Amino acid sequence: MTDSPRHPDSAAVWLGVLLRQFPELGRELAPGRTSAPSPLGRRGGTAGPSLPIRLFVSDTIRDISDGVVELEEAVCEKLRLPRPRRGTVEQRLTRLLGLLDEVATDPVLAGHVRAESRRMARRCSLALGDAETPVRVRGRCVHCDSVSLRVFPHRETVLCVNPGCRCADPACRCHADAGHRHSWVRAEWRRLAEETEGDLAELTAAQDSARDEEGGR
Ligand SMILES: [Zn+2]
Ligand SMILES: [Zn+2]
Repeated sequence: MTDSPRHPDSAAVWLGVLLRQFPELGRELAPGRTSAPSPLGRRGGTAGPSLPIRLFVSDTIRDISDGVVELEEAVCEKLRLPRPRRGTVEQRLTRLLGLLDEVATDPVLAGHVRAESRRMARRCSLALGDAETPVRVRGRCVHCDSVSLRVFPHRETVLCVNPGCRCADPACRCHADAGHRHSWVRAEWRRLAEETEGDLAELTAAQDSARDEEGGR
């Protein structure tokens, strides 16, 4: 037996990551968390910059809570076990871990459990990564002209944190959903950098410095 997992792609590893990290998501949402360790988000004590973080985190909690219920029910059905009792996400994850030997006897089911637990673990890590390291970038938002662009490195997304920001596309979620902020995925960064007269290298460098900061600034 080794401490470090030899099979980084196994369901047990991902379920273990979830078991460890899921409770941290709840702590990110706890009141009083506004004094986050990030030196970038503080401005006059308003909770503004932390809002998009909270949205990512609460979305992720919902997604994982639903996903774990569905996964356990699917496993029990395939293994012809009784429908699982109610339980917290942690209890369900623990029960799933206990079923993995049986799951392994069905390659299709094992593949599904592995893919789904990897997806959820990754999403959980992304949300926690976001909460730790939003990075301010130079340049003004092309929609609202505020100095309000932040990179969320793990999510590979640039976000305008100005709550009043609306883009020109009426179909964009930033119009319909008050909780949505206009965002740019990685593939759109080059164009964004041109439009903001920002520096694409700065976006990439912001990612690197965010990784450095994780070790404590
Ligand atoms: Zn904006
Ligand atoms: Zn928009």
